[in-house]
Amino acid sequence: MKEGKEKLWWQNLRRPEIEERAEECDIAILPVGAVEQHGQHLPTGEDSFHAMDIAERVAEKTGAMLLPCPWYGTHPSMHLKYTGTIPLRFETFKNLLVDVVEGASESGFNKFVILNCHGQEWAIPPAVQELGRKGYFVVAPTLWEIAKSKFREVLDTYFMHAGEAETSLGLYIVPEYVDMDVAEGEEKEAVLDGKWFAKPSDVIEDRIPWFAVTLTPEYKELEFGSKGFPKEGTAEKGEKIVGAAVDWLVELLEEIKEKYPPGTKPDIAP
Ligand SMILES: [Zn+2]
Repeated sequence: MKEGKEKLWWQNLRRPEIEERAEECDIAILPVGAVEQHGQHLPTGEDSFHAMDIAERVAEKTGAMLLPCPWYGTHPSMHLKYTGTIPLRFETFKNLLVDVVEGASESGFNKFVILNCHGQEWAIPPAVQELGRKGYFVVAPTLWEIAKSKFREVLDTYFMHAGEAETSLGLYIVPEYVDMDVAEGEEKEAVLDGKWFAKPSDVIEDRIPWFAVTLTPEYKELEFGSKGFPKEGTAEKGEKIVGAAVDWLVELLEEIKEKYPPGTKPDIAP
């Protein structure tokens, strides 16, 4: 939470303030990341910091409410058992998303954006669909999907865990927690040839996504805990990625605001 932005966040508001905000704009953004080791050089809250920062910039431009970031996320099996990582079970995470949306809707919010900045994009659609069956309107963008073309323009490598992209975001968003003196990365052969799976931010055509296969646990195969090339990360690259994500999200929210004024939502209830 950046200084001067405190009032964008639900947890810092009093009840009458929340009522007022819902009357002005009833879109709420739930930023989600994780508590997870990010190599030797990035903080464990890295993904949550990305989500909160980007959400804050979008809320500032659109008037959307920011729901408290839960910090914890769920993880693919390859992340488990690494020092610094605290994973939620998939069901816990999915239920958390459902409960938060249901709870916030009781306070007058009708449209929800779940902004994901962690490798759990596979875990969120089941929550979205469960909420859809109950009549809630939810959109759930993931950072490397909405900024994919920008990633390819700005970065030399794909979005890899604690690699060039995340290091760039860390240097731009939370430089005070990054130590580039110990930034080391590595590339490892996957369990099968890499041609079968698309990496995050990669083009999926003729391949399956990275989360549709079980991979070797990172604590067993990585020496430094980061994949790819963290030394290539810069704050300037981070700024460009954040800018692209914010533009995408602001355009999305502006359309929702225009088509569905406060008190209304798309007719999606079954
Ligand atoms: Zn990360």
